[in-house]
Amino acid sequence: MKPSRIFFLFSMATLIALLLTHFGKENRIVEKTSLSMGTIVQIKVPSDCCESQKKLEEKITHAFSEVRRVENVFSVYRENSEVSRINRLAYGQPIRISDEVFGLIETALEYSKRTDGAFDITVKPLVDLWASAKVSGMMPGEEEIKAALAKTGPQNVILDKAFKTISFKKRGMSIDLGAIAKGYATDRAIAMLKQEGITAAIVNSGGDMYCLGMRSKKEPWTIGIQHPRDREKTFLELKLADEAIDTSGDYEKFFVLNGKRYSHIIDPRTGYPVGDEVVSATVTAGDSVTADIYATALCVLGPKRLDIIKEAKGVEAMIVVNEDGVLKPYVSPGFKERYSVSKIDL
Ligand code: AMP
Ligand code: MG
Repeated sequence: MKPSRIFFLFSMATLIALLLTHFGKENRIVEKTSLSMGTIVQIKVPSDCCESQKKLEEKITHAFSEVRRVENVFSVYRENSEVSRINRLAYGQPIRISDEVFGLIETALEYSKRTDGAFDITVKPLVDLWASAKVSGMMPGEEEIKAALAKTGPQNVILDKAFKTISFKKRGMSIDLGAIAKGYATDRAIAMLKQEGITAAIVNSGGDMYCLGMRSKKEPWTIGIQHPRDREKTFLELKLADEAIDTSGDYEKFFVLNGKRYSHIIDPRTGYPVGDEVVSATVTAGDSVTADIYATALCVLGPKRLDIIKEAKGVEAMIVVNEDGVLKPYVSPGFKERYSVSKIDL
């Protein structure tokens, strides 16, 4: 094992704690921001959308409560969460779980198959191993990676639909829904807003975004995608209505080990984090969970496997790769046409 220097860059989202309300008279948007799930969650509603600003604020606050509820259920950083309970108890014995957690785990396992194993919630032993490596600055040994890999695999999670139970086949297994929970929280917040009669809004859970309805009667929402290596620059703008968009990649959370830049996303096939060849994957879909899953999976699979989204209805994607220091975009066949993209300014 070689010692090496190591650097962290956490997203601003994880560092800044703020709660603010903003009334932009000129654009008539009610905007509230809250800290949840280790990131900033932002909700915007056009103030002429439905009713008084005070009422809108209350409704947005309800949506934030829903995001916090989702965090309390799914976070592996909370000892009392249902997922932490599963991780403590599910080896060798069936544990009864809620319909909600069962449903999301079932979805996650299904998508492991659809992504040829690239999306895999059982990677937690590897996530933990590489988290320790980040702290120590020491590259894990081959044996350690092999041992952690042996504790993974979606086929080692047993779900019983009739009894709503889960169990793990291997000792030391654990699950991490970090690559799907923010998308799920976004979908839940949107569902809450809709339930309260809101017809236009944006919910953005640290990049997992859903655009409900239109920005105004004439205009869809315009979403700018941040340049992977220049925080100040937007390299592409997309117009969206009733659609989710999510970007996963190495530019918000990454670390450097032995001089190489690694993503926080693990390749479940090798046990290593994704390197700096794939910089980011942006996915649009009809819901945030689907966008969240494919964005993570495409970071693992890279542009050669963009075809995995073919079977998913209404999903488009763009992958940015680093080819010898030059950033290059790869897009799914329908991407440019659907979003009228003439130039990608990387
Ligand atoms: P995201 O930012 O949505 O791509 O999710 C990344 C997070 O999901 C990581 O911080 C890990 O907790 C977890 N994760 C890492 N690699 C994978 C993977 N291949 N499949 C599913 N979850 C992963
Ligand atoms: Mg994801």
